[in-house]
Amino acid sequence: MTKKPKIYIIDVTNRDGVQTSRICLSKLEKTMINIYLNQMGIFQSEFGFPTTRHETNYLNANLELVQRAQLVPIRLSGWLRATVEDVEIAFKRVPKIKYLNLSISTSDQMIIHKFKGKLDHQSVIKEMVEALKKAKKLGVESVGINAEDASRSRIEYLIEFAQAAKKNGADRIRYCDTLGCDSPFTIYERVKQLADAVQIPIEIHCHNDLGLVVANSISGARAANDAGVDSYINTCVNGMGERAGNADLISVILAIKYANGLQNNYHLDERVNLKMAWKISKYASYAFGVPIPINQPGVGANAFAHESGIHADGALKDRRNYELYDYEELGRGEPEIIETGRKITAGEYSGIKGFRNVYDKLEIVFSNDKEASRVLELVRYANVHNQKPLVDDELSFIAKYPDIARKIFTMEP
Ligand SMILES: [Zn+2]
Repeated sequence: MTKKPKIYIIDVTNRDGVQTSRICLSKLEKTMINIYLNQMGIFQSEFGFPTTRHETNYLNANLELVQRAQLVPIRLSGWLRATVEDVEIAFKRVPKIKYLNLSISTSDQMIIHKFKGKLDHQSVIKEMVEALKKAKKLGVESVGINAEDASRSRIEYLIEFAQAAKKNGADRIRYCDTLGCDSPFTIYERVKQLADAVQIPIEIHCHNDLGLVVANSISGARAANDAGVDSYINTCVNGMGERAGNADLISVILAIKYANGLQNNYHLDERVNLKMAWKISKYASYAFGVPIPINQPGVGANAFAHESGIHADGALKDRRNYELYDYEELGRGEPEIIETGRKITAGEYSGIKGFRNVYDKLEIVFSNDKEASRVLELVRYANVHNQKPLVDDELSFIAKYPDIARKIFTMEP
């Protein structure tokens, strides 16, 4: 019997999420997102831009955590334009990078109106193949090819593009609904046609301009699996991402697990652990400075709230009357303790006594005063870097990996 195809998650919060207008994450915050995604059993984090100079130390420092077996088994992948030059720069700045996604536009609209005669349909394929060959030559272990604007690309051309990618060693094709114009019906048909013809795993990258992002993502993934190949859904924590956002990480997982017709018939990567949902969603909200909507699936304040007589009575009699899944599954239900009396915080101008108090509460002990002063100095930098009070996990991270933290805070323009 052949192996059943699966649905994997590739989270792009640290790429599409941070390139979004008006919102950003510090390099420490990006690192924490990678750590939480790993704890959640997510297959891959698109962790940044290897050709962008201010990312270099952050990317290398995170790959050092991989080498020390602290950020495994998650795969950390970089996003690049599909050009030989970008691939060369990436390997020069981030030599230990193993996973890449190379991106180029495939629609008539973008080939004509973005490349403006610089590239035509055949040279787009040629450019992509040359970048792919270069990446393979420089030692990439796994590489996805992004067809930007795939949803507006002619399907015959998309198939030709994907066949060339497969022939030259690509591991996946990323079908990008860059403008969010697909519907669950069109994406199913197009991805099915593409996957049937090329027989290569398909990544589904959708945007929410029509409010269809989660439906489109699972429909595209289903089409790939129906064609007998694995699918990879691109997500962002709290549905961040360009314009109206990408597919929300938690909603996608809930949909695969609980939607009629998907449950039992389609197989989510079994390592995914929803218990981290509450934590990662709250952290991303704090880090981005964007509140979680009250009606957000799974993690919104109202996701398990009942008030009307019939609903409250029903939910109290048996939760399944009005709740599709359990809040405990998402890591909710524990009371959160908020200090209402004296509170010492660690900031950019903290001294050693207050700092010791903060770390005592985290039950972290330093071997001597020298070590404590060294970590205190890094915590001050971290506060300058984040420009908001550090959370406990960030404080613990700095104490545990002071040398990595130092690299993350260092930028050399
Ligand atoms: Zn995007």
